[in-house]
Amino acid sequence: MNKFDVLIIGSGLGGLITGVILSKEGYNVCVIEKQQHIGGCIQNFTRDNCIFDVGGHYIGGFEKGQNLYTFFNYLGIADKLNLRKLDVDCFDKIIFQNGENYSFAMGFENHKEKLLEKFPKENKAISDYLNKIRETCDKFPLYNLKKTDNPLMESIMHNDSFDNLLNGLTNNQKLKNVLSATNSLYAGIKEKSPFYMHALIMNSYIESSWRFVDGSSQLAVLLKKQIELNGGKVLTNHEALSFTFSDNCISSVNLKNKEPLFAQNFISNIHPTLTLKMIPDDKIRKAYRHRINSLENTIGMFTVYGVLEENSFTYINHNDYIFRDSNVWTAETYSSINYPEHCLMITPASSKSDKYADCVILMAYMNISDLSKWINTDIEKRGTDYKDFKDAKAQGLINFANKYYPDLKSKIKKYYTSTPLTYRDYTGTIDGSLYGISKDYKNLVKSVIFPKTHIPNLLMTGQNINLHGVLGVTIGSILTCSELIGIHPLINKIVSSN
Ligand SMILES: Cc1cc2nc3c(=O)[nH]c(=O)nc-3n(C[C@H](O)[C@H](O)[C@H](O)COP(=O)(O)OP(=O)(O)OC[C@H]3O[C@@H](n4cnc5c(N)ncnc54)[C@H](O)[C@@H]3O)c2cc1C
Repeated sequence: MNKFDVLIIGSGLGGLITGVILSKEGYNVCVIEKQQHIGGCIQNFTRDNCIFDVGGHYIGGFEKGQNLYTFFNYLGIADKLNLRKLDVDCFDKIIFQNGENYSFAMGFENHKEKLLEKFPKENKAISDYLNKIRETCDKFPLYNLKKTDNPLMESIMHNDSFDNLLNGLTNNQKLKNVLSATNSLYAGIKEKSPFYMHALIMNSYIESSWRFVDGSSQLAVLLKKQIELNGGKVLTNHEALSFTFSDNCISSVNLKNKEPLFAQNFISNIHPTLTLKMIPDDKIRKAYRHRINSLENTIGMFTVYGVLEENSFTYINHNDYIFRDSNVWTAETYSSINYPEHCLMITPASSKSDKYADCVILMAYMNISDLSKWINTDIEKRGTDYKDFKDAKAQGLINFANKYYPDLKSKIKKYYTSTPLTYRDYTGTIDGSLYGISKDYKNLVKSVIFPKTHIPNLLMTGQNINLHGVLGVTIGSILTCSELIGIHPLINKIVSSN
């Protein structure tokens, strides 16, 4: 009963998609999750009748025929998702606190036109920038559902930074700031972030942008259902602690307070560093362990989840990226004194109303080092000084957003908060990192994590393979499953199912 073809550790998006694909292809699959709820970063929580997203706030490329829709259609869930399309002429708004604002529109022509309205003399730079995005995306076969023999090596061919690329296109600093302003989508660092990450993410949102209605956990629930329909299992409250080996292969996974589970193959959806901790020293090469453990992770976020007075605040059908000044690359440069320096503001889509927002989410970067005082504490046991710290940060963030939306503060009747420690303890990301391992264009080879490990029956999946985000993790899951099914047959199946 406790022996499976494939045992997947972690029910984040990567674990669940991998589970659907493999169970669909006839494998007897079991996904285990340490928490009470599935989904990892795509789970929700409800407070005061409001549904808050932990991670997946918006997705791109979901019009029929676009890449994410095609992947999800193969998984059997595309038409079951309840989504709201963001404003076609403004899915993201870039706002500077002097009042200047810029709209990012859907559709490449529309996107260009909206930018040209604000930067009429920059036709060439804007056209070149958009062409570069499309050219770069074209070079990633899996992103375009094309067959490839060496999918992961695609990314390391694109070794230039976004900032270098912009500097080559224009001297207009304001245009450069605006085009870089959504860099929190990849926790961007000016001197490090590769252009290809920006291109893959922005291309998807420019194609089409959508919010989950009543939260992204619907995605996890639908995927779990598909696994079960295919005969697989998803077990919560099952925390993996370590692996037992038989010769050089894993034979079982040892669980906290439960009997071990046995399988032919194991897939880890948790951070590679944590996966390696489950493997005895003599089973993995020192150099590999050292390389993985030395990789840097992206910064975390501080979040305010505000409950709004009923029917008091108009629902905003776009995301607001608000900046204190012209510095839009704040991940490494933000100061905890002048906090925050930017804010991402989202009014989640609710089935209750499309006229009024019932809640608001405000986010700003926060480094784990700001929380060093509480680093050894557990959820709900961090003390009153932690609560005071969070309250002070929350007030700062609300006041910051209120400068642009002057009636916001008075409409927030209650709020909740989370810090990188919350993410560390709930989803198991190292230091509460937003998107896992960070990438440096100067050394992309180092940060590439292959699904295949040195253990013959252990694979990895999730945001550290390929790319983070709903689309990135979906493509990463395909890569992981291709190790068992073969990449060409899998792409054939995805394409022919649409
Ligand atoms: C604040 C925030 C906002 C985001 N916004 C967006 C967005 O708008 N759009 C977008 O596309 N992406 C967004 N993302 C990114 C996206 O949510 C993630 O890249 C993606 O969900 C990660 O999925 P994953 O499968 O890699 O891992 P995770 O979601 O981290 O899941 C890992 C799972 O493993 C479980 N686990 C850990 N250890 C164990 C163990 N020992 N035993 C068993 N289970 C274990 C965890 O509990 C968790 O459920 C956001 C992320 C964050 C943090």
